Amino acid sequence: MNKLDLQDPDINNVQIKVCSRCIYDERVSNISFDANGICNYCHQVDKLKEEYGTGKSKGTLQLNKILDKIKLEGANKKYDCIVGVSGGTDSSYLLYLAKKWGLRPLAVHFDNTWNTAIATMNIHKLLNHLEIDLYTYVVDNKEMDDIIRSFILAGVAESEAPNDLGFAYLLRIAARKYSIKYILEGHSFTEEGITPLGRNYFDGKYIKSIHQKFGKRKMKTYPLMTFTRFLTSIIFDQVKFIRPLWYISYSKKDAQEHLNQLCGWEYYGGHHLENRSAAFFHTIYLPGKFNSDFRNNTISSQVRIGNCSREDGWSIYNTAPIVEPDLLTYVKKRLEISDIEFEHIMNKQPLSWKDYPTYKKRFERLKGLFYLLAKLNLVPKSFYIKYCS
Ligand SMILES: [Zn+2]
Repeated sequence: MNKLDLQDPDINNVQIKVCSRCIYDERVSNISFDANGICNYCHQVDKLKEEYGTGKSKGTLQLNKILDKIKLEGANKKYDCIVGVSGGTDSSYLLYLAKKWGLRPLAVHFDNTWNTAIATMNIHKLLNHLEIDLYTYVVDNKEMDDIIRSFILAGVAESEAPNDLGFAYLLRIAARKYSIKYILEGHSFTEEGITPLGRNYFDGKYIKSIHQKFGKRKMKTYPLMTFTRFLTSIIFDQVKFIRPLWYISYSKKDAQEHLNQLCGWEYYGGHHLENRSAAFFHTIYLPGKFNSDFRNNTISSQVRIGNCSREDGWSIYNTAPIVEPDLLTYVKKRLEISDIEFEHIMNKQPLSWKDYPTYKKRFERLKGLFYLLAKLNLVPKSFYIKYCS
């Protein structure tokens, strides 16, 4: 099943160019190397560390200013910020930090009905312990399955897009409902890196067009972020997106131990693996059909911060990902895809988001507007870079 172009696991025997500092190699999209063989993504991380003062007093000062603003602007409200939770490490730890910093967060969870039992338990253990309210939205499971199946039938890589965009829109819906102006995101560029540009793309039109073409059910409960809904939310709700972990020193491993001691929170075994559709995407669908393995993102970051040697990182990356037993059987049964049909899907020529209608051209035309909105923190800077150029 695995189509990964695995290289010699010994980095000293490798025939392709690999960054001299991390494990990104020449196949990573938009990669370049300097005279010392260090890749542009390593330099990008250094630049971000400098800009955000990550783990230094500059970072703490910057973050404290933001926290004061959040408290002040939310003083008369029941909640002053939103933290989106998945049951994974980073968002769980961010909730703990938010409470420690004296914020009054509302936890928001998009239940795509593919959660593992551990993820669901983690969310409840933590929120009970921290006494944080949860706003959760459960999409109709048959409808969600129909949307995910549409992406797989369409032959494109973004089978997790409906989950990611649904979650992103739910955060905006919750912000409007409770008039909250800040959304805190549990992303850490030191622990996970920045996704290479050009790897994946999705928007509301993409989801709608794929589902219209390949789906069997009507879209009724899925929170679809159309262009109008997106722009309306940006202009009228004026929500700001903050990534607190960019300013402070943060260790995923320490966070996991701390959460476990705090409330019995459990580790689920890997990045994104707290959800079964995400686990299928990362360990079966991408490596099996698209010769793609996103683990190099996290592994490279772990090598950069010294949690793992470059040699070990390369060796792990060039050993096929571990697939949870029974995961494929579960996915095929749930999505009503037969063994033969699945075989056919995986062997068919992959297609790209460029083969289907999207808003990309429209975002590019409105580049100037989104530049301004990114300057005002009303859309993430990464959105501007990825969607408008
Ligand atoms: Zn590098």
